[in-house]
Amino acid sequence: MATLTSRCAVVSPTPRSPVKILPFEVGPPPADSIHVEVIQAGICGTDPHLWKGDLELRAPIVLGHEGIGKVASMHPTVITDHAGQPLHEGDIVYWTAVRPCHKCYYCTVLDDECGCPSNGFMHNYDALVRAKEGTWATYTQYATLGPRNSFYRVSPNVPPEAYIALGCALPTVIQATSRLRKGHIEPHSTVVVQGCGAVGLAALMMAKLSGCLKVVVIDQNPVRLAKAKDFGADACINLDEIPDMGERAKRITQVVGERGVDLAIECSGHPSAIREGLALLTRNGTYLLIGTWAGKAEVLFDPFIVVNKALHIQGSTYCAPRDYYRASKVVEQNWQRFPLASCVTHKFRLDETQLGLETVISGAAVKAVIEPNRKDN
Ligand SMILES: [Zn+2]
Ligand SMILES: [Zn+2]
Repeated sequence: MATLTSRCAVVSPTPRSPVKILPFEVGPPPADSIHVEVIQAGICGTDPHLWKGDLELRAPIVLGHEGIGKVASMHPTVITDHAGQPLHEGDIVYWTAVRPCHKCYYCTVLDDECGCPSNGFMHNYDALVRAKEGTWATYTQYATLGPRNSFYRVSPNVPPEAYIALGCALPTVIQATSRLRKGHIEPHSTVVVQGCGAVGLAALMMAKLSGCLKVVVIDQNPVRLAKAKDFGADACINLDEIPDMGERAKRITQVVGERGVDLAIECSGHPSAIREGLALLTRNGTYLLIGTWAGKAEVLFDPFIVVNKALHIQGSTYCAPRDYYRASKVVEQNWQRFPLASCVTHKFRLDETQLGLETVISGAAVKAVIEPNRKDN
């Protein structure tokens, strides 16, 4: 295969500077690698943070770590995906844009690929241009996936929107719930989900799939709350309608019953949610923290209730390749039970990337995606 020219969306270290659409060249896929024509790249909540400068960048980077695409070409050493499923050109794949090394203490002993010192999804644009080996980032026409970017073949009969709808959020929630004491959300438990962006919707879906008794969702974005209702939330509480924490607790008790909340899942990313999450829990309850990923904060809470209610507090960072595989199977089995595809409310061309980021910041979208190879690009 001759050299391929692709375009990608690049964010510079200067906060809110215009997103640039820049070219790069890539040769044939290196050993154990494939080229993928990106169908959809999900705009994750992290991407606007990177553009706004909430997370410091040292160099221009190619954006995007959520992608679904079509295999365009393969090195002859690749005959299967990373789950051993046969792979051919034209197959649809879902991949992880993080790159654990699979040979360090965290990867091989602790089963914690997010602790891997070589991990990370940011690809320096200048290095990409120099190396001509392609990028694993997703806001690009062609991505190149090597042995460290696990890729999984998915069903061509499921709309790509259903896979990308919960992007990195569903694998993140799958890892987080696997870290609960029983390894999953317990059936017949009562659950509160704080925040219903993609992470919250994924938590809601996993709670419903677990057979939990009741699940209540809290947010203040009416578009997302309406989607949570469609996903089967037993109650959706709008913070603007019930601004008082005590009143919200009463409303939640009405729904879940006097015994209280067994599991609270923090998916809002707001430190202000922590006090309420702890207060809502019943004796032996668990607080699962997923959302407070980007940023720094200190929170006042009453440590006596943690002891007196024998609470369990569990954090979880992002996810591992195995969770992407599991997420692809959860979507394949449940995309018709849950309105996953309809979560994609906004689609943008590659050169509209900045508009896409601004739309996500505005709160208008449930899920926005970039379509880098759409005909009108
Ligand atoms: Zn993400
Ligand atoms: Zn490692």
